[in-house]
Amino acid sequence: MERTTQPATPLVGLMQDDHPLTVASILRRARGINGHRTVSTFHGNGLTRTTYAEIGNRIDRLAAALDSLGVRPGDRVATLLWNRQEHLEAYLGVPSMGAVLHTLNLRLFPDQLRYIIRHARDRVMIVDDTLVPLLKPFVDDIADVVEHFIVVGDGPVDGLPNTVHRYDGLLDDADSGTYAFPEITDDRSAAALCYTSGTTGNPKGVLYSHRSTVLHAIAECMADAFGIAGSDTVLPVVPMFHANAWGLPYSASLVGANQVLPGRFLQAEPLARLIEQERVTVAAGVPTIWMDLLRYADEHEPDLSSLRIVPCGGAAVPRVLQEGFEHRHGVRVVQAWGMTETSPLGAVAHPPHDVAGEEAWAYRTRAGQISPLLDARIVDVDGSALPWDGESTGELEIRGPWIAAGYYEDPSGADKFRDGWLRTGDVVSIDRRGFMRITDRAKDVIKSGGEWISSVELENELMAHPSVREAAVIAKPDERWTERPLPCVVLDQGAEEIGPNELAAFLSGRVARWWEPDEYAFIPEIPKTSVGKFDKKALRALLVDGQLDAARRQVA
Ligand code: AMP
Repeated sequence: MERTTQPATPLVGLMQDDHPLTVASILRRARGINGHRTVSTFHGNGLTRTTYAEIGNRIDRLAAALDSLGVRPGDRVATLLWNRQEHLEAYLGVPSMGAVLHTLNLRLFPDQLRYIIRHARDRVMIVDDTLVPLLKPFVDDIADVVEHFIVVGDGPVDGLPNTVHRYDGLLDDADSGTYAFPEITDDRSAAALCYTSGTTGNPKGVLYSHRSTVLHAIAECMADAFGIAGSDTVLPVVPMFHANAWGLPYSASLVGANQVLPGRFLQAEPLARLIEQERVTVAAGVPTIWMDLLRYADEHEPDLSSLRIVPCGGAAVPRVLQEGFEHRHGVRVVQAWGMTETSPLGAVAHPPHDVAGEEAWAYRTRAGQISPLLDARIVDVDGSALPWDGESTGELEIRGPWIAAGYYEDPSGADKFRDGWLRTGDVVSIDRRGFMRITDRAKDVIKSGGEWISSVELENELMAHPSVREAAVIAKPDERWTERPLPCVVLDQGAEEIGPNELAAFLSGRVARWWEPDEYAFIPEIPKTSVGKFDKKALRALLVDGQLDAARRQVA
């Protein structure tokens, strides 16, 4: 007998799908059953230590104070703060009020900060006393937007308008029982706002929702990501203004891990001391931070044995860095990939279970395996999808529950999104197992004789040279080949005798013959962006202005 098929009507699940995923629920758990776990802030001469329970009490008073200043659901509350306890209070407290936490990058130029604050229309700003001078150049231009400044610490506040409050004073005056947190019933409502450090045009706002924040926090706690657990002690070296410190304050709070916040002390020596004293198990930051720490550790042999995992990303993580930590200090550095627009975790480079040795390194030096629940595709210039064969190279597009769907009130960024996908601007290949190799940022690729040269790969190979401290490769115009690679190299102190010929000999056999640079620029320092990455835009400007001329040396 033939079976008749009915038109398909999906059966609706009978689960509490409307139960919202909110930052408030992260806070509830942290201050409740994990109330005894600690949050410590380093101040240079010592730590202040508190618990999630106490942070919860202070958040009650912070919320009452902000409410009395007129902060309502949907309002933006800016922070201009280092990684410290008060910043975590704002992280958990502001979204729990239904308001939006807006983290300002303190390394931006005054013009960019002015633009961002006005664009976001921040009604209140919580600012570190040491950072008040940053506001001076433009404080009059934001006076019609920012109604209240709340200063953390008791340093001078000269130059701020008279609507200044002291953070601790506000909390002392506030009554912890008076503010009734609203029910956040729709978890798609905004929780936090972070502007991209944008290399072209104005900075663009990424507006995270409660739901995206919670799902991202869970994803970060998965064993194949960073496996953050209640037993961990997490040190976010990555600033809380850089893509929400990669979401770590939320994932650590979600599971009740201890947090160690380094304040403004991001140099190798205090970081090593913090790791040693606090028995840190997870410490995360960009490669430049860990390169410095590795040099320090080689010299001073601090006890880093508590470290279980060092998530590292934001830029390609050189193999020498991973190997140096692993072989000489027993510390596992794990590469991850992400963007402000992706919350930021999008890929993690744990090698698959069935590989070892060199094969494992081949995976660990890639940007990572696309994270669960995210879809990725590679597209070529005309927009057609390319296969995941580990060879085909094109722009990475990504979508998923913690990926931006658009920029905050900025139609000029619309071309970064297409058919529900985020166009990342990263040029990648992906293999069958979902491991992604980044060849370049689209704007950094070097086009030579109609083919692409990967600046990232050249940099990695050069940084494997024992005397090369840093290497950033940019394109230089070339009549015959259109462009050729120009490595800008910083040598270790005392290694100044190393010249272009030695580097050329070192690269020979490590990269394709036609990739080999015909000249090098030896410079004292590579300019860095506001989030500590190589600033190739600045290097290109130096090249165009002729400022690299004296440093350029031809291979014989
Ligand atoms: P941002 O939004 O400032 O964090 O910058 C995001 C960009 O950093 C990405 O689009 C990549 O170009 C770069 N990036 C992040 N992680 C990695 C990585 N592991 N390897 C290479 N580039 C990376």
